Amino acid sequence: MKKITSRTIVCFLLALVLVAGTVLFTFKFFAEGNTWSAFSANRHLYTRDVLNTGRILDRDGNVLADYDESSQGWTYGASSSLHKATLHAVGDSSGMIGTGAMTRFADKLTGYNVITGAKPIFPGGRDLYLTLDADVCQTAYKALNGRKGTVGVYNYKTGQIICMVSAPTYDPADKPTIKDDDHRYEGVYINRLLSATFIPGSTFKLVTAAAALEQIDGIQERTFHCTGQVTIGDQVITCPTAHGDLTLGQALAASCNCTFGQLAAELGSEQMESYVKKVGLTGSLSVNGIQTAKSTFDFVSGGQGELAWSGIGQGKDLVNPCAMMVYSGAIAGGGTAAKPQIISHTAFTKGVRTSLYLKHSTKEFISPDTAATLADMMRNNVITNYGQSNFPGLSIGAKSGTAQSDHSDEDNAWFTGFLQDEKHPYAFVVLVEGGGSGSKVAGSVANAVLQAAVKAD
Ligand SMILES: [Zn+2]
Repeated sequence: MKKITSRTIVCFLLALVLVAGTVLFTFKFFAEGNTWSAFSANRHLYTRDVLNTGRILDRDGNVLADYDESSQGWTYGASSSLHKATLHAVGDSSGMIGTGAMTRFADKLTGYNVITGAKPIFPGGRDLYLTLDADVCQTAYKALNGRKGTVGVYNYKTGQIICMVSAPTYDPADKPTIKDDDHRYEGVYINRLLSATFIPGSTFKLVTAAAALEQIDGIQERTFHCTGQVTIGDQVITCPTAHGDLTLGQALAASCNCTFGQLAAELGSEQMESYVKKVGLTGSLSVNGIQTAKSTFDFVSGGQGELAWSGIGQGKDLVNPCAMMVYSGAIAGGGTAAKPQIISHTAFTKGVRTSLYLKHSTKEFISPDTAATLADMMRNNVITNYGQSNFPGLSIGAKSGTAQSDHSDEDNAWFTGFLQDEKHPYAFVVLVEGGGSGSKVAGSVANAVLQAAVKAD
């Protein structure tokens, strides 16, 4: 009797394992079937390790890449500069670019679905429309002028990324030989907008300012006094000049290190930690499934002096450019912004749409009041400091940053912000590695790209 009971238990457990396995498989089939099907060992979809179907286009239908049956390879868009400008969005057939559509969205290019799998009812590949604008991307690539860095522009109301350029880059139609130690191609396969982090410099003062506005009573009535240097903990914080008496808004426009170092120390490490999380910097954004790099900070281990430097955007701060762009979008958008997307839609080659990508918003980063105050301050930065004449016709709010570089003697130049423009609600980020001055160098790249963005709409 005992034997029968124990055998029953064993049978029951085996049946349970079978059911659990089937449930797990079914779940994974629906969740990951697209990835399994698009795996590069699938001989139906790959010829000599190259995906053999589909087209990639920009939002206006300009072809960025197209599989050519006769040559059994991919052909690219109209010009070499377009190939270079869109490399990190389109990818190349060798699969070296981790964020490239050719690799990341292979399932969409094949027309995969859960019923018929990689052999769709209507075969022949699909047209994958990205949200990018080919002209704006080329303008950004040219404005970087051979320097390393990244330019991102997106519509903070719809989430559509119209510009995503990362440099160094290359032409996938005429790929150069890239040696590991060739400085010109350092990090060439990395999409600097989505997959990298950099010291943010003074652009980070936008986070410290938000925390101060929400957590320190009467902050806007307060006057700060800058003598050009202040000692906090074991660190001497310096400004390039004595800024004198300043309101918070004036301190942001002058980018006063003494004021923002003191504010970070006053807020404390816990508040600073809670705000980098709150404004979405430490999380990872999913751009149609491509996870962005998380920003990282250390407000604790270095004491008050290091905390002050962190509040200024130096120290151990490392920020992902895309996350900074989305935060700028949230400042313009009343505290929240649309999450960035790179896919517009997919379609049959005859133009009938096969998919729709809906807008998703971030959670509330900051209160609508804080967002409105910060937006006004960023507009004031341009008027009183960066110069409206450098941005003709654009109602732009911005913050510049100049940060030490790991790879260059010259500083990295940052510029992030938004257009206050109902018709063109764009947020942007520009990073020029080794560029020097944030507002002059990265600001002029931003102007060129935003002028092109407004013209393209
Ligand atoms: Zn100062």
